[in-house]
Amino acid sequence: MITWLLKPSELTLKGENRKSFEGALKSNIQRLLAKVDEKIKYKFTAGRYYIQAAEEKSKEIENILSHLIGISGWARTITCEKTPDAVLAACVEEGKKLYNNGVRAFKIDARRTDKSFPLTSYELCCEGGNAVTNAFCELEVDIHKPQDIIRIEIREKAFVYSGGEKGNGGLPVGTAGRGMLLLSGGIDSPVAGFLMASRGMSIDAIHFHAYPYTSLEAKQKVIELSKLTGAYCMGIHLYILNFTKVQLRIKERAPYPWTTILLRMAMMEAAEKAAKKIKCKCLITGESLSQVASQTIENLTCTQSRLTLPVLRPLIGFNKEEIIKKARQIGTFETSIQPYQDCCTLFSPPHPVLHGDVNEANDLYEKLELPELIDEALSDYELIK
Ligand code: ATP
Ligand code: MG
Repeated sequence: MITWLLKPSELTLKGENRKSFEGALKSNIQRLLAKVDEKIKYKFTAGRYYIQAAEEKSKEIENILSHLIGISGWARTITCEKTPDAVLAACVEEGKKLYNNGVRAFKIDARRTDKSFPLTSYELCCEGGNAVTNAFCELEVDIHKPQDIIRIEIREKAFVYSGGEKGNGGLPVGTAGRGMLLLSGGIDSPVAGFLMASRGMSIDAIHFHAYPYTSLEAKQKVIELSKLTGAYCMGIHLYILNFTKVQLRIKERAPYPWTTILLRMAMMEAAEKAAKKIKCKCLITGESLSQVASQTIENLTCTQSRLTLPVLRPLIGFNKEEIIKKARQIGTFETSIQPYQDCCTLFSPPHPVLHGDVNEANDLYEKLELPELIDEALSDYELIK
């Protein structure tokens, strides 16, 4: 059996709401792990959660923990009796792990919430350090630059662990309403979805393609991106809409430099209609100010001008480098850069309008007579769960 110790993140800040945030985190953990093994044991205490499962499940469990939003870190831990002997023996066991991993300088960090334990935190650090260095003379204590830390926590039981992984942080998914993510095949929108999920939002996604002008591979790529993003969001429902007729209508009737803005307006309108049907309270996009022509402040004003739901743009102040770093971290980057054409690039003009006037945009938009075509696209969606 292996025990993992999880550290919930941010919940201490939540005051009155703390209980409901904790409840959501616990139920997310149980829901995700139930798929791995029904027999997993849970123990939830203030500030620390423990899960216990068979060794052979550890790979799947750790994969889930690495995607879990709401914990600041987790580690495999030794659980032992609250006696100095047992704790020091556990320190030696952790020391052996460090030694085998090539660590030579370490320190001990000890905490007691149970003050009846016979050693103080300071004494635990000293004695733990001695026990480890006596057992492995190649290891030395370096409190300023340790390569790893052996942590001792004296709580309901004693826990001893080292290493551990950083969690995703954030607030548990399901505590901040539901948002509709406009998911393209690019780098930005999966990151935008992840960031809003990290604020506790449940995510649904919508994608517009223009088959046969765009390939089936392009659609497959978006499905893959929604799976990768969904692993953080307690799952995503992806609505896929064919927007070919809308795009062709725009190409037919609109001045060429305006086509990008008008297509964005149409996508937003369709996304909002879909969002309202499934009780999403906002739209989410991967837009970042001035990244491309359609994302100047004037053009963003045009694209949202017909909406009543708020549009959340968590990347608005990020530069591309920062977005790419995040995309690599969450594991969507490699899929995003596969070279399949998105429907937006299909009819995109060489000289798009850069600072569109919102009234002009709406006059042009109305001349397109899109509602019927949008409703048609909305009534014939593909749903991927
Ligand atoms: P991304 O990397 O997410 O594709 P981008 O830099 O390519 O972003 P745009 O193509 O201008 O930017 O798209 C801006 C935003 O509009 C995207 O982040 C996404 O939220 C939305 N979007 C663009 N194309 C589509 C599409 N085909 N389906 C759904 N949403 C889209
Ligand atoms: Mg794009």
